[in-house]
Amino acid sequence: MYWPQRDAQTIRRMRRQLLGWYDACKRDLPWRRSRDPYAIWVSEIMLQQTRVAVVVERYQTFLDRFPSLLALAGAPEQEVLAMWSGLGYYRRARMLHKAAQFVVEHRAGSLPATAGDLRQLSGIGSYTAAAIASIAHGEPVAVVDGNVERVLCRVQGWQATGRAGAAALRRKVEIMAGQLLEHERPGDFNQAMMELGATLCAPKNPQCLLCPLAQDCVTRGEHKTPGRPKMLSREIGCALALRDGPLPGPRNREVLLEQRPETNSVMPGLWQLPMLLEAEVPEDALRMTVRHAIMQVNYYVRVRNVEEAEVARLTAAEGQRRWVALPDAATMALTGLARKVLSRAHLLPRLLAEAIARRSPVDVV
Ligand code: SF4
Repeated sequence: MYWPQRDAQTIRRMRRQLLGWYDACKRDLPWRRSRDPYAIWVSEIMLQQTRVAVVVERYQTFLDRFPSLLALAGAPEQEVLAMWSGLGYYRRARMLHKAAQFVVEHRAGSLPATAGDLRQLSGIGSYTAAAIASIAHGEPVAVVDGNVERVLCRVQGWQATGRAGAAALRRKVEIMAGQLLEHERPGDFNQAMMELGATLCAPKNPQCLLCPLAQDCVTRGEHKTPGRPKMLSREIGCALALRDGPLPGPRNREVLLEQRPETNSVMPGLWQLPMLLEAEVPEDALRMTVRHAIMQVNYYVRVRNVEEAEVARLTAAEGQRRWVALPDAATMALTGLARKVLSRAHLLPRLLAEAIARRSPVDVV
């Protein structure tokens, strides 16, 4: 028992207050309207390392296109990646797709119902398995993500010291989360813990006066959350090459895209704008500068207008290239940077879902 100072009555009160707060104050998020294990699985994978606001934008579009595990499993990978565009960390989409195919092939399309069985699927770790099993099936298994860990550490006044300390702390938190879990409503309780960490008990400036656990929290906001590691910065350049296409109307304009080799460890198979050999760009050719963060690196990207005849001289060929009509580019699995640049240049039509519904994904030539 890691918190002997909390008697059974206190634990019951904490559960009651947390669930009461959650029932009254929870955010109305689209995945909370469903108990479909597949839909919950998709939302949990999307929410890893991606802000809630971004997932809200992409979630329904993805489910409209792939409304069932069967639909996802039967789709080509490039189409899945295209629908994942904007969420980043495409490895998650690939693993989700592969796991869906595995379930169709080996489990007749039926997703496992227990956390233990769910963990056997690629891309589903302890956290995701517990979230799906508790929310969709009511299994009393506690979820521990970064938010839950922060809340419970603050409630107890725990702080990690060094790497070994962090592992031991994590174990204590997992045990405590299991003890605190409300077995009548495990899915709601887990979501309440995560919601508290994502809203009131945020890393900076916790709002302890509004917190349902304030009465039983040792630190009440005094607890210091370790600072984030310092970001590195790098300067790079990319080419925005446009030309008139053979077709009239909006399909007339084409952009040059390049597919990253499948052997690349980072974002294999995604489509990017060609990279410039030099990050320095003359003032008159500079289209824009954008900041793009990947992991611990801030990339400051100079985007250069490049004429078709200048492409070979100014860019470094990394993969196969093709000229793509702008409406088609919207349906492709673009890198986050390519999507950001094309959007900021007002070149990417906001027709992703409609376009994908109309046509099959772009074939590589
Ligand atoms: S009282 Fe403050 S620090 Fe403690 S759990 Fe609530 S919001 Fe977090």
